[in-house]
Amino acid sequence: MPAEAGAAPQRDITIVGGGLAGALMAILLAQRGWSVDVFERRGDPRVEGYAGGRSINLALAERGLHALRQAGADGAVLQQAVMMRGRFVHPLHGAPNLQPYGRDDSEVIWSINRGELNIVLLDIAESHGARLHFDHALERVEFDAKLATYRNHGLEVAHPFNALVGADGAGSTLRGQMAAHVDLAERTEWLDHGYKELEIPPDARGGFRIEPNALHIWPRGHYMCIALPNDERTFTVTLFMPKDGPHPSFATVDDAEAAQALFERQFPDTLPLIPDLRRDYERNPVGSLGTLYLDRWHLDGRAVLLGDAAHAMVPFHGQGMNCAFEDCVALAGNLQREPSLADAFAAFEAGRKPDAEAIQHMALENYIEMRDLVDDPGFLLQRQLELALQQRHPDRFVPHYAMVSFMRIPYSQALRRSELQRDILVAATRGITSLEDVDWQRADAAVLATLEPLEDSPA
Ligand code: FAD
Repeated sequence: MPAEAGAAPQRDITIVGGGLAGALMAILLAQRGWSVDVFERRGDPRVEGYAGGRSINLALAERGLHALRQAGADGAVLQQAVMMRGRFVHPLHGAPNLQPYGRDDSEVIWSINRGELNIVLLDIAESHGARLHFDHALERVEFDAKLATYRNHGLEVAHPFNALVGADGAGSTLRGQMAAHVDLAERTEWLDHGYKELEIPPDARGGFRIEPNALHIWPRGHYMCIALPNDERTFTVTLFMPKDGPHPSFATVDDAEAAQALFERQFPDTLPLIPDLRRDYERNPVGSLGTLYLDRWHLDGRAVLLGDAAHAMVPFHGQGMNCAFEDCVALAGNLQREPSLADAFAAFEAGRKPDAEAIQHMALENYIEMRDLVDDPGFLLQRQLELALQQRHPDRFVPHYAMVSFMRIPYSQALRRSELQRDILVAATRGITSLEDVDWQRADAAVLATLEPLEDSPA
């Protein structure tokens, strides 16, 4: 238990939420000798199984992997991960094709199971001495008395705290409690598109039914399906589509019959892969997607928010968890360096907010790219040119996807450079259909004039 209110030592932290960011934060602080308590609303997934049950997976990229290395968790996580080398695009007409993400197998992303990842992190946190309190849902906080009240199996229990870290996700209760004391200027921009999860099971011999080492996309203009592999030879399929409006939307495709008809027409190659389409479609809810903006992430030295609680984003760059993990590394560093909790929380917010806003923006943009552009000839020509310019100017021109997924330069810098690079790509491909027609002298001059040499963040 934390020390009594008022007598708590400085290096004593209470984390609300033992999900992905909360568990990682607990490791990073416990490793550094902090006294750490984690209060998690759900039961212990190691005892009760991960709430949610089915394989829900996430794309892990270099930013998240780097954070896992700091925590000594990368080995255990990668053991259960499936490598994804690129986008495997399934057009409605024409042959499916693999568009590699990077130059070779050093530039890949990984599909990981959310529940397995959470369990690995909780185990390591506990091994470093963090105290995990499951079945404790934060209900309210008295910030002046430094007392937090949780609901535990129907009963209210109060625990004193020194400082709170809010890792309690997009619907954060701590955020709501902080807002009663300080104006966070909270606003959420909801996407008018939702999502539904389906599953491709293993084939009759227990193997993968489609190429395992890829993120599959079925782009269809204003909607799409994607599929990520799981290590137990299944794929989690996600259908993203408008919630309302003209067909197809979740309003018009509102039962198993309509889903079957949509897939027969628009995703015919997936029908033999998803035998339980009708059941999954009826059973699984339509999820909502939004971007959460706050002007402020902390309440002096008493509470700070991170991960989805501070900056939830739409999932189209596969960076929400990666960004949350970067937050944890940053906050652990701030807490080590700064003289007080208040200084550390303020430095964390000042350092991370521009980057969170940049990836929120890029995540929204990437939806259009995935659902509409990945099978567009103009877009594909620009991707070829990106790789060619990278070869010609490896120190200056790094493709957008690589800056976000394979490097750790600040997201805000990746956004700025991507915008400059996009202008160069658009200008160099205007009116042409092949790389052979590129005016290389002009394109090279534009790169040299516009882009400074790029350095990745130090280890
Ligand atoms: P969460 O993972 O939401 O964890 C919050 C924790 O707090 C939970 O354990 C919850 O039970 C607990 N909690 C909540 N309320 C309370 C309370 N009152 N008291 C105590 N505990 C509480 N990101 C990627 O990087 N790659 C991807 O490929 C990717 N794909 C995604 C696909 C979809 C469809 C969605 C919706 C998101 C995706 N994301 C992805 C984003 C990623 O899921 C989130 O960014 C990440 O889970 C954030 O971690 P977190 O710990 O901040 O929040």
